[in-house]
Amino acid sequence: MKYLDEFRDPVLAKKIVAEINATVTRPWVIMEICGGQTHSIIRNGIDQVLAKEIELVHGPGCPVCVTPLEIIDKAIEIASRPDVIFTSFGDMLRVPGSKKDLFMVKSEGGDVRTVYSPLEAVEIARNNPDKEVVFFAVGFETTAPGNSMAIYTAAKERLTNFSELVSHVLVPPAMEALLSSPDNRVQGYLAAGHVCTVMGLEEYIPIAQKYHVPIVATGFEPIDILEGILLVVKQLEEGRCDVENQYLRSVKLKGNIPAQNIIQKVYKVTNRKWRGIGEIPRSGLSIREEYIDFDAEKKFSVGDINTMESDLCISGEILQGLKKPHECPAFGKECTPTHPLGATMVSAEGACAAYYKYQRLR
Ligand code: SF4
Repeated sequence: MKYLDEFRDPVLAKKIVAEINATVTRPWVIMEICGGQTHSIIRNGIDQVLAKEIELVHGPGCPVCVTPLEIIDKAIEIASRPDVIFTSFGDMLRVPGSKKDLFMVKSEGGDVRTVYSPLEAVEIARNNPDKEVVFFAVGFETTAPGNSMAIYTAAKERLTNFSELVSHVLVPPAMEALLSSPDNRVQGYLAAGHVCTVMGLEEYIPIAQKYHVPIVATGFEPIDILEGILLVVKQLEEGRCDVENQYLRSVKLKGNIPAQNIIQKVYKVTNRKWRGIGEIPRSGLSIREEYIDFDAEKKFSVGDINTMESDLCISGEILQGLKKPHECPAFGKECTPTHPLGATMVSAEGACAAYYKYQRLR
């Protein structure tokens, strides 16, 4: 297939659905990792055309959703300083902190700017030597190459007024943490295609073998997702636990080596707290000692902020595949996209936002 439309072909979609439904003989729980995949499933009603034995649960693969509240509050504290230009991708600006969001900081006079690339933030630093320019480096392995390149570039140019507030998370440790939980329901994974594009497939092999779960790197269009589900269901029915690649047009076994190299040069693996889930060992990235001058948390001494989540929000259970958004008592009532209580509602990739947008009320 060559063009995007072909990955939305209804005739082919019906054929794959029929094959999935003819293959399944008993109940299986399959988790799609990425929020982009969740939206595609809900938007296209994929979960509604599959045999009732197949339950799709939504994973923690929305970077905005899993960024801890403390980090949002740290961003707000830094962005409120008069000497700072705070830069971020647009989706982080509406995420509520304990008291406000970054848009409010902007409306109160803070210099908060949306950028489309971390290198744009470096450019702003270059052009504003009298200001501290901070980039909010959030995301999975997908955004880590660009974000690490920004620090590498700033260091090479000896820019002393650029830094990053880093809250990077890594997908495989989170998948493993879910599988090792006593409450785990997941029996097969659709791995996030764009993360696999950067990191490759090899790190999934020991997870698949240890927990006996099939893992299929999967894209984001309806045909991608249906093919990914078919591959997982076939493995489950045959008792296999292999790592397979549905997203062949993007993912290679070893991934993108130059991208991995720049990540490793600037960042190191660290323990990281995931919003709604808690701390997962070795599941994040932080800045290496050699580049510590570019660490905004150290530069602005915002290391000690502690926060409390809303009592009503069950996004942690949703992100672990234990509950669906409509099971949250606040869904569509106290919590809506215009008044979100939790990050899974505020983010465009969040499962609660998908259920609200496509009116999945049960
Ligand atoms: S609907 Fe709102 S309150 Fe409920 S889990 Fe989702 S984000 Fe949290």
